[in-house]
This record gives sequence, C-alpha cells and structure tokens, in this order.
Amino acid sequence: MNIVDIELAKENMAGQFNTTLSIVVPVYNEQEVLPLFHHELSTELARLPNEQVEIIYVNDGSTDNSWQIMQTLSTQTAHIECLNLSRNFGKEAALTAGLDHACGECVVILDADLQDPPCLLPQMLAAWRQGADVVNMKRGIRHDESKIKLFCASTYYWLLDHLSDVPIERDVGDFRLLSRRMVDHIKQLPERNRYMKGIMSWPGFKQTTITFDRPGRAAGETKWSFLELVRLGLSGITAFSVRPLKMASWLGGAISLVAFFYGLWVMFKTLVFGEAVAGYPTIVLIQLFLGGIQLLTIGILGEYVGRVFIESKKRPIYLLMDVESSAQAIPSEMQQHG
Ligand code: UDP
Ligand code: MG
Repeated sequence: MNIVDIELAKENMAGQFNTTLSIVVPVYNEQEVLPLFHHELSTELARLPNEQVEIIYVNDGSTDNSWQIMQTLSTQTAHIECLNLSRNFGKEAALTAGLDHACGECVVILDADLQDPPCLLPQMLAAWRQGADVVNMKRGIRHDESKIKLFCASTYYWLLDHLSDVPIERDVGDFRLLSRRMVDHIKQLPERNRYMKGIMSWPGFKQTTITFDRPGRAAGETKWSFLELVRLGLSGITAFSVRPLKMASWLGGAISLVAFFYGLWVMFKTLVFGEAVAGYPTIVLIQLFLGGIQLLTIGILGEYVGRVFIESKKRPIYLLMDVESSAQAIPSEMQQHG
C-alpha cells in the first residue's frame, strides 16, 4: 500500500468515525508506564461519551517492549493507531508523525508518562469549543523537578522571550490542544530543525492558556540528559531567531569603538605625559578577550551554517516502519514522509 492509499484509507476512516478528538502520544522506552497511561486515558475518555476519539501512539524507536504493548492495546481497544518509526528520531519528529496522521477536528498532545494529566481533557475541549485554536497548558507547580532544572528552564524561557521573533509562551511544553486549522498549517512547515514549541506558536490564531500543576513521572525515567536539553534549547533559539547573529555584529562594533577610544587615550598619554604604552599583561589580556569573542561569534555562525546544511539536504523528518490500526489494518511497509 503506498502513501496515497494510506491517506485514502485514513480519509475513509475519518469519514466513518467523524473523529472530533485525536490524542497524539509520543513513546520512547515507556514500557513501565504505558499500560497505566492507557488505562488512565481510557478511564477519562469513558467520561466523554459524546466525543469520537482516536488515540495515536507513536513509537519513537523504543528498544524495550513499548511497541509490543502498543500492538496489544490496539487489539483490545477501538480507534487506536500505532505508528512505529524506523528508529529513534526524537520527540519532535515523533510529534510530527502523530500530527501528520491525526484526523480529528482537534488534536491533543500528551506525554506517555502521565505528567500531562488526561483528566484535563474536558477543560481543554471546553476552551476549544469556545473558539480557541490553541489551548496552551502552562506548568504551574512542577513536582519532581530539581531546583537546578527549574532555574535552567526559567533562564532559558527568559532568553527565548528576548531573542525569539515569535512569541513563545513561557512554561508551556508540548501539552496543548490544537484545532484542525492549526494542525493543517503546522503540517505546511517543512523545516527539519523542528522545535515544536516554536512551530506550534508560529501560526498564531486564537490562543488561550490554562495553568495546571504538573505531577512527577508515574514510572520510568526522563529521556532527556542535560546535554540533550541544551541541544534542544539551542535548536529553539536558532530556529526562531537570527538575533545571535546580529549580536555578533553589535558586539564587534562596540569592541571596535572601545578600542578606538582606548587607542586615542594611549596616544594622548604617550604624547602629553611621555608615558610608555602599558606592557605585556594588557596586551595578553586584550588578545585573549578578542580571541574569545571571535571564537564565540564563529561558533554562533557555525550553529546557523550547520542548520542550513541540514535543511538543504531535505531529508525526511521521520521514517515509518509499521502502522497498526485497531479500526482498519494497514499492512507493515516502509514509507517515507518529509
Ligand atoms: N520521547 C520520545 N522520543 C524521545 C524522547 C522522549 O518520543 O527521543 C517521549 C517520551 O516517551 C515521553 C515524552 O516524549 O512520552 C516526554 O519525555 P520525558 O518524560 O522523558 O521528558 P520530560 O517530561 O522529562 O521533559
Ligand atoms: Mg516526562
């Protein structure tokens, strides 16, 4: 079955069930928590009998039994679609795959570890029905997160606030509701460097925010190391701002100006007081300072050039290996999206 057939099959499915709500769940090595998550989600969905819901689990190349668990779930519950990516492409790619396959009138993104409580779904749907295109779920109290992580997060959001050309709401993760037209616009954004928090903010439209207390993980471990968070943070800044590049020019200009006046002062001292030019330490200090600034700006330039290089290759954002659907079986086949 090729991609066109799959899209047609999905359109038929959408027609049959007239899905109002798609729930997209990225999953990477979540075997400890997945059955519990599914149970909690199903319990909450049972309280919404009037909604036609589809659940889209995206297995992001898990090395544990997450995919087998998903397959079992899809045989037990109706309206589940399980996507199996060909390897670990990262959460941003997994979300992209989920959004590409969602056919609901609105889409909610939920983490599999129950840190995004499914009991908030009715509130989110109510906000959507009142006209919101995006319901941002802002983290109020964050349980189970170290003071250092909270400090780094707040510094990062401050930086992003000041650098980004697009307003990206503070303390809002990927837990959001998106209307159909938002999802359709997001699907048009072709970039490979996918910082989803930025991508989901970029189209704008009517946004509303609900604050919630974020619980700790129900089970398992976080999948992000400190270095990966720094990489994600950098990718957010470089994807949504060119200000660091401009800062390099401003810094260069400012240092040249200071150097000019300092040169005048040295000349004046030498001519009027006959004082010798300050010696070795000053020269070494200035050289080190300028060397540091130059390397820093080359590094900033490198970050952007590297990303241009990756974009220019136009590789697919993710590769799909299998699709399992409880409503309609779609055979395993390697397909490509991008
Ligand atoms: N995740 C993913 N691919 C990855 C890393 C994480 O799909 O490469 C999923 C993970 O299974 C979870 C969600 O993204 O459902 C959030 O991950 P995690 O809880 O580790 O992040 P944190 O809450 O610590 O920021
Ligand atoms: Mg988590």
